Amino acid sequence: MSVSEESESEERINIMTLGNSEVGKTSFILKYTENSFQDIYLATVGIDFKVKNITLKEKQYKLFFYDTTGQEKYKSIALNIIKNAHGIILMYDINKKTSFESIPEWIKSAKDAKGENFPMILLGNKIDIENEREVTKEEGEALAKENNLDFYETSNKTGINIEEAGLAIVNKILEKRQRDTLDYSNTSSRSSQLRKDTRSLNEGESKKCCGS
Ligand code: GDP
Repeated sequence: MSVSEESESEERINIMTLGNSEVGKTSFILKYTENSFQDIYLATVGIDFKVKNITLKEKQYKLFFYDTTGQEKYKSIALNIIKNAHGIILMYDINKKTSFESIPEWIKSAKDAKGENFPMILLGNKIDIENEREVTKEEGEALAKENNLDFYETSNKTGINIEEAGLAIVNKILEKRQRDTLDYSNTSSRSSQLRKDTRSLNEGESKKCCGS
């Protein structure tokens, strides 16, 4: 099915991954959407996006996962994808401190493009190679807390926490959609109340001004 043929009953969700090169962004997308894992660096293979259909509370969603692998150096390209994203998965490799230290910069890029309360989660990946760990779980949790993000330690190789992470970002996006809808209906009922108030004020004034 092409993107334009997608059914109207399905809600579309665009998710992108951000983080340093080789932390496992492409692998996460392949693991979550196809349950596959390859032990090779996938930058040369490259994928544009992968789609996964899910059903939550009897509603269907079409998840588009956009890959930024290979574009880490060309931030402008990644920023182009950010524009259409509904949520972002930030990822570092627990065995590479530098990838963890880059996370605040990725958060800043995301916030600059999408604003403060944009749905994002943080993943510390490759926990299957525990003996080479350079970032503790507590450090990951602290950074997540500081930035108000859900946090998971994951492994694309073993699959640990992959489903949970996918579901977490979808839930964050749906919560924001719900908040935005509520804000919109509150604003429109407030402005309709304001219109009513203005009308009665005008009527009052016209009575005052031109009454007997
Ligand atoms: P990207 O550049 O961030 O998209 O990283 P890739 O998905 O291409 O992964 C880089 C390398 O790390 C590849 O060799 C993957 O097989 C490997 N990799 C990715 N995730 C994991 C993981 O959870 N555990 C292990 N052991 N290797 C991983």
